[in-house]
Amino acid sequence: MSPKKEFNLSFEFFPPKTPEGMKNLEKTVLQLSKAQPHFFSMTFGAGGSTREGTFDAVKKIQHLNIPVAPHIAAIGLTRDEIISIVKTYQAQGIKRIVALRGDLPSGMGQSGELRYANELVSLIREVTHNTFHIEVAAYPETHPQALNALEDIMYLKKKMHAGANSAITQYFFNADSYFYFVDACNKHGISIPIVPGIMPITHFSKLVRFSDMCGADIPRWLRKRLEAYGDDQKSIQQFGLEVVYKLCDTLVQHGAPGLHFYTLNHSEPSLSLIHSLGLNTAFAIGTHVL
Ligand code: FAD
Repeated sequence: MSPKKEFNLSFEFFPPKTPEGMKNLEKTVLQLSKAQPHFFSMTFGAGGSTREGTFDAVKKIQHLNIPVAPHIAAIGLTRDEIISIVKTYQAQGIKRIVALRGDLPSGMGQSGELRYANELVSLIREVTHNTFHIEVAAYPETHPQALNALEDIMYLKKKMHAGANSAITQYFFNADSYFYFVDACNKHGISIPIVPGIMPITHFSKLVRFSDMCGADIPRWLRKRLEAYGDDQKSIQQFGLEVVYKLCDTLVQHGAPGLHFYTLNHSEPSLSLIHSLGLNTAFAIGTHVL
């Protein structure tokens, strides 16, 4: 497979908790806007914990002429709360949403009225019809709570049938997991684009903590190499960039329909990867379509 012409670049942020964090986000977003991404996305704390924060952050970065896709995590929310959030975004001119189930934060008892993301997608379609391009989550290494890989794929199909237009994957460091996953999805009739989620490696212990939480595999060789750098942040970042560059290059060369960067509100690692991959040039001539 060769790289596709239509290529979708996107960057994910989280809503900052402080005014300094917001200033940093605005700076980051401005820097990343130079890569002309297809969209920015803004996460949502499950249970509505960052609800206002997500609204505010979306508003702050909406002026840049790059579409912003707020995430909505259904868990812990009532149908009415979800409808109100979705209608607020509709009134604000938002055209894309990332629809998720979310994970209930520990100590929060109420799981809400919707159990799975496919129900959220159906509700958004029922209330707002075709207003939004709906993104959903996909798991090349299988969602940690799934009974097995096939069942997980069938639930992704359910999200597509409910009205999802495309999917973004959990991050992974093994390109084969993505290619086998996409093949299996295609064999089971999933026709929506599945864009790989990319986590730049910048900090070892944070990466381990996060990966343990979301079920992303850090291959043993990679974990051991990163661990060996100890507190040498510079070497971790250099080596991390090299590893993630090779991953992205393989994905792009073998036809991935785009790349979605988990930026953690930092611009440098993603920009450096995009530059090394030569994606700036592709974007400068406007080849991104979805
Ligand atoms: P679902 O698709 O509902 O799947 C959850 C589990 O249930 C899976 O094991 C699946 O196999 C199973 N399942 C699915 N449908 C059914 C069904 N109908 N019947 C029975 N079983 C079913 N979390 C946040 O809180 N906020 C965010 O902003 C956020 N952004 C994310 C962005 C991306 C790109 C990704 C990949 C994840 C994100 N997450 C976010 C994390 C996500 O909420 C968790 O991974 C969560 O555990 C699952 O969400 P989901 O939408 O994939 O759930």
